[in-house]
Parts: sequence; structure tokens; C-alpha cells
Amino acid sequence: MIQGISGAAGVAIGKAFVLPSWEWDLPDQKMDVVDLAKEFERLYEGIRTSRNEIETIKQEFNEVVGPEESSIFDAHLAILEDPVFMSEIQGIIERQYKAAEVAVKEAIDHFVTMFDLLDDEYMKERALDIKDVGNRLLKHLLGAPEITLPSDTQPYILVAKELSPSQLAHLNPNYVLGIVTLIGGKTSHSAIMARALGIPMVSGLENSVNLPVQTGDTLIINGDEGTVYVNPSEKMMEKYTRIRNQQQRKKEQLQVLAEVDAVTKDGTIMNLAANISSTKELEMALRHGAKGVGLFRTEFLYMDRPTFPTIEEQYEVYRHVVERAGGQSVVIRTLDIGGDKQLDYFPLAEEDNPFLGYRAIRISLDLKDLFKAQLTAILRASVHGKVKIMYPMISSIDEIREANQVLREAMKDLDQQGIAYDKDIQIGIMIEVPAAVVIADLLAAEVDFFSIGTNDLVQYVLAVDRMNEQIAHLYHPFHPSILRMLKMTADAAHTAGIDISVCGELAGDERAVPIWLELGIHNLSMSPQSLLRVKHRLLNTCAEDAKAVAKSCTSMSKSHDIEAKLEEFIEENAERLN
Ligand code: PEP
Ligand code: MG
Repeated sequence: MIQGISGAAGVAIGKAFVLPSWEWDLPDQKMDVVDLAKEFERLYEGIRTSRNEIETIKQEFNEVVGPEESSIFDAHLAILEDPVFMSEIQGIIERQYKAAEVAVKEAIDHFVTMFDLLDDEYMKERALDIKDVGNRLLKHLLGAPEITLPSDTQPYILVAKELSPSQLAHLNPNYVLGIVTLIGGKTSHSAIMARALGIPMVSGLENSVNLPVQTGDTLIINGDEGTVYVNPSEKMMEKYTRIRNQQQRKKEQLQVLAEVDAVTKDGTIMNLAANISSTKELEMALRHGAKGVGLFRTEFLYMDRPTFPTIEEQYEVYRHVVERAGGQSVVIRTLDIGGDKQLDYFPLAEEDNPFLGYRAIRISLDLKDLFKAQLTAILRASVHGKVKIMYPMISSIDEIREANQVLREAMKDLDQQGIAYDKDIQIGIMIEVPAAVVIADLLAAEVDFFSIGTNDLVQYVLAVDRMNEQIAHLYHPFHPSILRMLKMTADAAHTAGIDISVCGELAGDERAVPIWLELGIHNLSMSPQSLLRVKHRLLNTCAEDAKAVAKSCTSMSKSHDIEAKLEEFIEENAERLN
């Protein structure tokens, strides 16, 4: 058994597919050649095989994830036919009498260095493609083992050293039974997405430098406990098959609640909205009865593409989401890159503390044209339903005012062009930086609503990096300091008479239900996968009893005692699922 961290709940059983490492070492032996014709023949054979391989992968991707994502491989095919790249390789073989693999390696290095030096994001992106194609060619020349993608008829457990949110965005949840990564914590964005898609995930494997798993191994992953079993015994298989089937049954039982209102036994109504980052997740949220979207993480619209999306492209996506929400409100959060979210075509400078660095609203206020383009697209979509705008990572009044200034400019441009938008669009902010909590009363005077982002708030208040698995045991959302911060924020919002919601992962934790009731927070936004479980908890809770429990938690001094109290309340008062 290998111990890791729970990334997303649930048990998965299946064959492993290990995402290959994509770097090849050249053997040490001398690589000069005498027979040029033979070397060219090896090169051409390598190119033919690479081309066939890319075409097959493209086809497989197309069937599994659709044509949009598979088009990246067209760019790869074009590089294999690129005369400049090819003549560089041929030149090295011909003039320097070097072996084909050495020539390919040198050509990759040459172009990658050259493109990296250019101050052009598009060319930097091309450098990555060249590296990818060059490595494929090298693999064939070196006779390195075949990498085959799992077939689309065979679901698999994806095993990777590290998985970026953009890689995860490409996966088809129907074929990925589970995910195991060496690196990453519970609130990494990959884990959040895995939870949204209902894919069990274990990350941050203890003491593992290399992946302890090979493609084809049978795996059991227990996303609830963060454990992985490689080639388990028959007894273990039986045990976990039983657990998995039971979990499946629970899910089916909960599904019945999708159409039911979220209301406590004594009549307190909660609005349960969804956090989404893609239209794929929106569909999942709607199936699980979401009342609108409380957090649309728009950064995923900016990922997996060669350039920033145009206003038109963004508008189409926002409009689609707003229309599908059918009159329920959609809170669109402006770009929140930095931290663990990167764009290939806009590399951010390396930082010692990326979560404390160039991130979110700080980038938007630095790159105002980019920000204005996004606001314009959101404004245009606002005529199709009930749209709200939310700024991330706010820590001062100045940031809100500066952001609103850009918004006013976007509005003015639309007015001049005669394009309609919602002139009364609501503006809100994420409360996720401790400074914002402390001055919540001042911030409340500037905005229409608050949404508490507990994921960042917890990491900033406790000084515990949400990505660092070594200190994951110190990441305590139920820490007394967090409970106090939640109360300060809720009180400030109530006093100012503005709306307040919670959209961090804590909103989807059923143990926290008494806290929201006690604080008078009636809007929650969560991963689509948590909606029905939290609703089930609410339906089985008496608000008055829950408030008393939450109140008693405020006088406790240890996170563990608070958690135990909240868990005890669930045990005692609520009907359990079978
Ligand atoms: C949060 O910080 O709680 C939040 C919802 O934002 P994100 O997880 O996207 O940083
Ligand atoms: Mg955040």
C-alpha cells in the first residue's frame, strides 16, 4: 500500500496508464557516422514512423476527447514537414558527420533556445511543439519503448508525476476511472477539477521519487483515504469492489434529490450553486440540481491554446453558460492565473512564492487591455441572463476602484458601439486574503456581494501552501482562526446589507453546514459533485440544533475538537445513506 493525500473522494479499480516522461537521453557511446546514406535512411524512417504515430494518436484523441483538443497534433505533423527544421537536421548529419539522433537533439536545442530568446509568446509555444515532435523522433531513432495511449474501449487509472489543470481539462471523464499523481495537494486545481468531474484522485505520494507503478498494473485507489494498492490480492479486490459498488449505489440514491429544494427540517432555505471551470462541468452541475453558477473559474478558457482568447470567443462561452443556467445567476470571476495556474503562451517569471506573487487581479490591473477585453465579453453576455462579475484576490479598496474604472471604460466603448449590456450588473469580490477579512466593512461599501474563497483564505491565514503535500496535515479549514474570519466577513456583509456566499471547497464539506446556518450564510457554491451530498445533509438537519452546535464550536481552541464536534452532530442527527 502506498500512502498519499486524498485528492478526490471515491474508490476506483482498474489498469494503470502511466503518462510517459517525455525526455530521452542520448547514449554515451561515440555517435559519429561514416555512412551518410544509411544515416539519412534512418532519419527518414524515423520521420515516417513518427508521422504514423502522431496520426494514430490524433485519431484516438479525436474519438475520446473531440476534434478541438486533437488539433494540436496537426501542428505537430506540420513540424515534421517543416523544411527549416528538417534542413537543420540534415545539415548537421551531412556537414558534421553526426548520427541522426545527435543531429535531431542538436536541432531541437538550437530551435528551442532560439525561440525562447524571442520575446514572442507564439514562438515560445512553437518551441514546446518542436521539443515534443523532436522527442518523438528521438524516441524512434533510439528505439525507446513504444508509448500507446489507452484504447477508448478500456477505461484506465491515469498515473502521472504531475498533472496540470490543462492536461486534466483534456481528459474524458468517461474513460478516466481515477488519477494518481506524485505531486500536488488537496486544493491544487487539478484536485478541484477531479472532484468536479467525480474522478477519484490520490496525490502527493509519500516518499516517492519515481512512480511506483507501470502501465498495465492493476490498481485500487482509495480517494477517501489517499491510498493506492498496486497489483492487489484477490481479497483486497473483493473488498474494494464491494466498497466501490456501495458508493455507486449511494450516488444513485442522492441523484433523486436533484430536483428537491435545499431546505432544513425547520424551513431554512439554502441556495446551492455550482463552481465550474468548463461547460463540461456545467452540464454535470445541472444534472446535480445546481441553482446557478456561484463561481465560474474563467482561467480555463485561457488555457490550452496558442494565444489569449478573443472577446468574441469568450463571449460565446459566457453566453452559452448564461443561457444554460436558465435565468439563475452566473457569477463570472475574472482571470485568476498565477499560483498553480499557468498559460503556455504567457510564461510568468519564476517566483519564490507564486501564491504571494504576480497573480489574479494583480495581473489584470497590470495588463489592462487584457482585463478590459474580458470585462467586455462578460458585459456582452450579461444581456442573455443574470450575470455578476467577481474580482479575485482583492486586498484593498484601491484594487476594486481601479478594476471598476476599467469596467466603466469597457461600458463606455460598448455604449459608443451601441451594444447592449446589463447596466446594473452586480460587482463582487472574493474574500480570500486575510487583509480583506480585516477590512471587510470598508470593502462592503464598494461592492454588491462577497464570496469567501476558503481555499486561499486557509492557506494565507495559516501560512500553509495549499500545494505542498509535506505540510498538508497543517491545512485546517476548521481552525479557530478561520471560524473567526468567516464570522468577521459575514458580520460585515450583513451590517452593510450586501449578499454573501462561500465558494471555497469548505462550502462543499457537509460538516460545515451548521457553521453557515449559524453565520446566516444562505448561499453556497461548490463542486458539482458535492451538491447532492450537502443538500442531503441540509434536508436532514434541524437549523436550530445545528446553530447551537456551531456556537459551541466557537469556544473551542483546537481544529480537531471542532471537527469532532461537527462529525458527532452528523452521526447523532442525520439519517445516513446506505
Ligand atoms: C478559493 O480560493 O477558495 C477559490 C474558490 O478560488 P480558487 O480555488 O480558484 O483559488
Ligand atoms: Mg482563490
